[in-house]
Amino acid sequence: MGNDRHDIAVIGAGAAGLAASIFTAEAAAKEGLSLRILLLDGAKTLGAKILVSGGGRCNVTHDVVTATDFFGNRHIIKNVLAAFPVQATIDWFASLGVDLKCEETGKLFPVTDKARTVLTALVNRCQELGVVIRPDHRVAEVACLAGSEGGFLIHHTQGVTQAKKIILATGGRSLPKTGSDGFGYELARRLGHHVHATAPALTPLVLDETVFHKDLSGISQEVELTTTVQGQIVDRRTGSLLWTHFGISGPVVMDASRFWTSAHEKGEPVDLCVNFLPALTQEAARQWFMKQAAGSPRRSLTKTLAHLVTERFAESLCRYLGISGQTAMAQLPRKDRDRLLAALTKFRLPVQQDRGWNYAEVTAGGVPLEEINFRTMESKLVPGLYLAGEILDCDGRIGGFNFQWAWATGWLAGKAVSVSMRADGEARR
Ligand SMILES: Cc1cc2nc3c(=O)[nH]c(=O)nc-3n(C[C@H](O)[C@H](O)[C@H](O)COP(=O)(O)OP(=O)(O)OC[C@H]3O[C@@H](n4cnc5c(N)ncnc54)[C@H](O)[C@@H]3O)c2cc1C
Repeated sequence: MGNDRHDIAVIGAGAAGLAASIFTAEAAAKEGLSLRILLLDGAKTLGAKILVSGGGRCNVTHDVVTATDFFGNRHIIKNVLAAFPVQATIDWFASLGVDLKCEETGKLFPVTDKARTVLTALVNRCQELGVVIRPDHRVAEVACLAGSEGGFLIHHTQGVTQAKKIILATGGRSLPKTGSDGFGYELARRLGHHVHATAPALTPLVLDETVFHKDLSGISQEVELTTTVQGQIVDRRTGSLLWTHFGISGPVVMDASRFWTSAHEKGEPVDLCVNFLPALTQEAARQWFMKQAAGSPRRSLTKTLAHLVTERFAESLCRYLGISGQTAMAQLPRKDRDRLLAALTKFRLPVQQDRGWNYAEVTAGGVPLEEINFRTMESKLVPGLYLAGEILDCDGRIGGFNFQWAWATGWLAGKAVSVSMRADGEARR
């Protein structure tokens, strides 16, 4: 292994690592440089996460992407996104032979509706550009080499490799069976970086057995979800909630979950409250209710509620509250009406736990963005080390935002590492 020397080693062949490898090689070709680029991954087969993404269709990006779609240092995120906007992603994929289509939700997918199209295009482009791809090379240690030459020594399961510069793109902790098990954070930490506490994000949530979620499994409804941490509202959002056999999922729950998990990990008291009538306050709902009772006094409670929510949900909620859904509106005791209105507009969801790393789509937390030069993705602490993708402390909402982050950071790192090699006069011509 004494001769296993490369100019640039990219560690992690997920979305960010594949993009970074391609952009490094393309930038080098433009500069007339011939760089030896190595892409290492611990997994035996590449791209498992890309293949399962977007329900097997890979939601590559979103038609509009702004820093407010992400959590983390938004000033830095804004700069990164501006460097490689959505149109750049669309054009880049077109250049790889992958045309994207935009759906009504704003999500962009390959026209083939197959994640495999995306993975194949990325891997083929790497090969065309001469990037050496080595799966089954799990990195255990990265050491900085002392002396005038500098560089890094990479210890992996197949031996030792030397590289002048490194792009660390080992992802986060979500879906650990794909190879992204959080060890990359340890590599970054040993190189001198901090790592902000991590928590599962974009994850479904498990509810206490006493709730009626099982009766409604498979049903979605529009709700407003409010997360309160230590008595302060930290997030409020409206969207579709999906009832499941274990609890709740759906876009609004997935997007809000990071607030619940982060607070839970820190041991902070956290509450998740749902308004099942997102367009109405409790008072507006009360007035509507009174009007219904006056206009149709003999109509049953569930039939009345069915004007606002599904009848099945109305029945489940009434049963949960111990109120008969068959009660005529005029016969409903005031106490029950008030309990019902409170439950409809401010229902406290008894969350037991999140579904964990096997179900979380992304990781909240990671290497602080402040420790990176956002123009180049180079570490401010370790010259020659670049970071890209989910390993950084930035997580996007559901809808293609996390991949956009991977492409954008990959582009910045790839371009910058090539430029720095030229500046160092290190590359073979
Ligand atoms: C089920 C699911 C569906 C998703 N769907 C979407 C979607 O449709 N749209 C979207 O925008 N986002 C989606 N995401 C999120 C998105 O997949 C990630 O944000 C993105 O893949 C992160 O890219 P990355 O390259 O930074 O990390 P990863 O894709 O996690 O890749 C990291 C790579 O590094 C390798 N690695 C880790 N440690 C080592 C080591 N020590 N040595 C060598 N190699 C190592 C891993 O094997 C892995 O291949 C989804 C995630 C999941 C789990």
